[in-house]
Parts: sequence; C-alpha cells; structure tokens
Amino acid sequence: MDCKITKTKEGAAPATIRLSDRLNGLEESVTLAITAKARALKAEGKDIIGFGAGEPDFDTPENIKNAGIKAIKDGLTKYTAVGGINELKDAIIGKFKRDNNLTYSRDEVIVSCGGKHSIYNLFQSILNKGDEVIIPAPFWVSYPVMVSLAGGTPRIVHTTEAAGFKMSVDEFRANINSNTKAVIINSPSNPTGAAYTAAELEKLAEIALANNILIITDEIYEKLTYDGFKSSSIASVSDDVKRISVVLNGVSKTYSMTGWRIGYAAGPKEIIKAMTSIQSQSTSNPTSISQWAAVEAISGPQDILDPMIVEFEKRRSVMVDALNAIEGVSCRKPQGAFYVFANISKVLGRRFNEKTIKGSADLANYLIDEAGIAVVPGEPFGDDSFIRLSYATSMNNIVNGIRRIGEAIKELK
Ligand code: GLU
Repeated sequence: MDCKITKTKEGAAPATIRLSDRLNGLEESVTLAITAKARALKAEGKDIIGFGAGEPDFDTPENIKNAGIKAIKDGLTKYTAVGGINELKDAIIGKFKRDNNLTYSRDEVIVSCGGKHSIYNLFQSILNKGDEVIIPAPFWVSYPVMVSLAGGTPRIVHTTEAAGFKMSVDEFRANINSNTKAVIINSPSNPTGAAYTAAELEKLAEIALANNILIITDEIYEKLTYDGFKSSSIASVSDDVKRISVVLNGVSKTYSMTGWRIGYAAGPKEIIKAMTSIQSQSTSNPTSISQWAAVEAISGPQDILDPMIVEFEKRRSVMVDALNAIEGVSCRKPQGAFYVFANISKVLGRRFNEKTIKGSADLANYLIDEAGIAVVPGEPFGDDSFIRLSYATSMNNIVNGIRRIGEAIKELK
C-alpha cells in the first residue's frame, strides 16, 4: 500500500503535513537553546564556559531532596488535584502572607509545572484576539511569544539603560489604548536585574487601576536582591491593586529547584479557575513528588538563602568589574536576579577575518566559536546592543570566562 506521507529530506517534516500557523516566526527559547549548545559542546570535550543558563549552580538543599524521596517512599506518586495539593497551596498562602503581606485562599492559588507554565496558562486564560499586553523591554524571551501563542498582541515598551531599564509612568500611560488587557512587571528583571522600588510600583499600579488593566507580576527573582535592596510585590500596594493582579512565583531560582518544575500563581478566583481548567486539559497536576519537595522548600528552614545570596553578590561584583574593564563593553550593576546585561554597542561593526559582527547574535556566535564562551544574545530580549551573562556559575568560571571574552573582543578590528 502506498504511504501518503513521504519524507522530503532527512529531518524535514513530511511533505503533506502542514505545521500550524501558530508557529509562524516562533523559534525555540534562546536561553534554553544556548544552554543546550554549551552542554553539547562540553560533552564533545570542548573547553566551554557557560554564562547562558538561568539556573543556580547550587545543589537542591538536602532537606528538600529528602522530602521528595520521602514522597516516593510514602507512595505519594499518583495524580493529585490539578491545581496542586492543599499542603502546597497552604505553604504558598503562608509565604505570601509572610513575605508580601498578601492574603489568599486556596481557590486563588494554582501550582503549575514551573513558573513558565503558570504564565502560559495565564495568557491562555485571559487573552482574546486583539488584546494587547504591555511588555517593558528588555523582557524575558518567552513573554511576547506566549502572548502571541494565546492570540494576543505584545506591545513592547522600550526602556533605556540610562533609565535603569525601568518603564516610567509616562511610558506606561502612553502605551495604553482601548485594547490594553494587561501589563507585565518583572521585578527583579530577567535579563537586566533592574528592580522597581515600592514607590515606583505604587505609581504604576495607580495607572493600571485607573485603566482597568490586569497586572501580571512575575516575582520569580524576588529573593535574589543585593546591596540591601528588598523586593516588593506590586499586588501589596492595596486591596484594589491585589484584585487586579496575578502574582507569579516558583521554587526554581530561590531553592535551586529548576529541574523539579514547580511554579505557582495567585490572583482573582475566576482567573485561577480558568488556568486550572486549561491545566486540567493539558498537563494535569504538576509532579506529585516535586510538590511535596516544594512544601518543604517553602515552609521548611530558609537559612540556605543567605549564603547563596552572599555568594551571588560577590560574583556579581567580580563579573561587573571585569566586563567594564573590557574596551567596548559596559554594564550596570544589577539590583537583583543573577544576570548582567552588558552593552556591546561599541563592539558592533567590528570585524573578525572577513566577518562583521552586526548584532548580538553574531557576537554570541563568535564568542562560543572562537573563545568557547556561551552568552545569550540580547536581541530576543528586545535589545540587540546587549548580551546577557548569568553569574549563577563558579567564581573560577567568571574570572576565566570574562578574561577569555576580553581577549576575544580584542581580536575584533
Ligand atoms: N528563565 C531562565 C532563563 O532565562 C531559564 C530558561 C528559560 O526558561 O528561559 O535563562
């Protein structure tokens, strides 16, 4: 019998299968792609230093791992409630009260398969065709893609390095129109590390309230702040602001649990219910074992955090100073998260052999090919004049890696 579906060439989609229009222009996440490329090159035996991964290099703390092991041994390995076990919801509710003075009930909380999944569910739940979501740039690579996948339109608001990569009240106001559905606030920010003060958040919240715009506040880097800066949640500005906010967080960054995939969201009941329905038709519950480990992470001892933050703070200083010492490169000292967003505009236009470095992707390719250094180009974060480097790696890697970047950039004429 003839097979209707034939392969055109090795690795290509079968000729008769047309991929979804949803994929138009959609590329895989660059942060994950760079990390995978660095890992593959290392496996080939190449000397690669990776500044790509947005994940702490510390091991998941022992008490959290043991909680996961106990869950397996106790047979807690079956389906759970779609939106998470009550024990974890209660731990999350406790965390919001303790850290953000926010009061939620169980039906205002959902646990998902990572913070990213909560954000995805949220956009799927709230967006209709034509709805705009205001996204200050530089932004985390997946926000605009997820908005588009849900049928919405990302409205990018460019912020400047001089303004600390923060969206001003005027910029926010100027981008609101009758289609504006939501705004994303990511503080501290991936990729810039910029963090809004409580006073700045209050002003942005006032505008959102006045215009009936949903505030989507991604607080995944909440605990990773430096120089004594303490992160605030915009949702805690007032009860009215809380009513129009969805707070997103997770255990990945704070507790070195990236692979466990536990994120969560808290917000208005109807939105959480909609997110739960979407989750029930797609992934079902997040892994039961990870949920039990997350209970321990959130409600167990928190003393692992301080040494981690002290170490990140040291690495941040070393990385920032070393990058600023490279001719053609400059960067601000980020207030939070674990990324440096380095300005490489002066390097653009320089040449290596016959090739001109035209943008951040060219520079990232050059650095990995010629210096064995993995960085993430700024272009998918919304600014092609920058590269992102993660300092969630050893001091040794930072010292040697930035030296190698300096040497490689010197070669560009
Ligand atoms: N959020 C991290 C990063 O930006 C993890 C990778 C991802 O999900 O994008 O590197």
